[in-house]
Amino acid sequence: MPKVLLLHTGGTLGMAGGRPSALRPSAFFRTLKARVPELFDLADIELELFSNLDSSEMQPELWSGMAAHLYRRLPDFDGAVVTHGTDTLAFTASALSFMLRGLPRPVVLTGSQRPLGKIRTDARLNLIDSVLSALNGPREVTICFDSHLYRGNRTRKVKVAEYDAFESPNFPVLGTLGVDATFEPGLRPKGAFRLLEKLDPRVFLLKVYPGLDPALPLALLPHVRGLVLEAYGAGNFPIDPSLGRSLRPLFAQARERNIPVVVVSQAFRNGVDLTLYESGVAALEEGAIGGGDMTPSAALVKLMQALAYHSSLDAVRRFIQAPVAGELTVGRPPAPPAAPQRRRKLHAR
Ligand code: ASP
Repeated sequence: MPKVLLLHTGGTLGMAGGRPSALRPSAFFRTLKARVPELFDLADIELELFSNLDSSEMQPELWSGMAAHLYRRLPDFDGAVVTHGTDTLAFTASALSFMLRGLPRPVVLTGSQRPLGKIRTDARLNLIDSVLSALNGPREVTICFDSHLYRGNRTRKVKVAEYDAFESPNFPVLGTLGVDATFEPGLRPKGAFRLLEKLDPRVFLLKVYPGLDPALPLALLPHVRGLVLEAYGAGNFPIDPSLGRSLRPLFAQARERNIPVVVVSQAFRNGVDLTLYESGVAALEEGAIGGGDMTPSAALVKLMQALAYHSSLDAVRRFIQAPVAGELTVGRPPAPPAAPQRRRKLHAR
């Protein structure tokens, strides 16, 4: 029998309650055995409790602990499934993908929109599909949700109350778990399995919007070591000094303070090209780092890791602009995912 490690961290999947009382973490393992007994026919599942948190409580220190735990335990298993809340799932998946290098086995993260104990829960299928993906899917950090397997660091939570809560806007799915389950080969492990668990969380994610007073982010600079700017479209932001809200001084002062600024896009599809418009060119002149088609969450976590391992701006730039775990498209982007991306399904009671 193949062996799968099931590491529980919390989230709706394992919660009890619901209106009128709030959902809260509950006794997950008992419910799991009662509600998904077939999970234990698929593999010899070893259950471990890492935490029991609503994922809005997830923090970088916990990512490091989780990565260290997986690094220690993974060699004894054929794959791992991590159950996690959906709210910060994309951040955790990005962090694990950057920390666990040369991954020799699949690490599949999952969660659910309805708790496991509820009728019409999506947790049962997500768990079964995740164990299948941990046994047969690519050796990388993925998110398995609503019959699809995504590269973890490419995903975004896009829906609050529907089962197809995740999308991978700039990268094709790595697996489809329909009537048949099919998987892509995914990343090839580079080098020996190793752990890079250090992060510097002193970063800030700033979203550009009409009316943003540049004095606000300027006042932040003494308190941060790195910035991710979620710019408009291809990497744009206001630079006209006559309109009073140019962000150019922010880039200039960040550079003076040796603070890297990574620019990503607010748009979901495609990425930034800082050579295309005047503001992007100004950002480049001030030393900004184009984040390509990385998601803002992947860029933020990658910057935390860059700052923990590199001190010069050039080294941080090189690190950000080279893919670590397939989080960034270099050169020609892959063909967009075939539309429609997913089939409608009826979940039987
Ligand atoms: N608040 C929950 C969490 O992220 C939401 C979920 O799991 O879907 O833990």
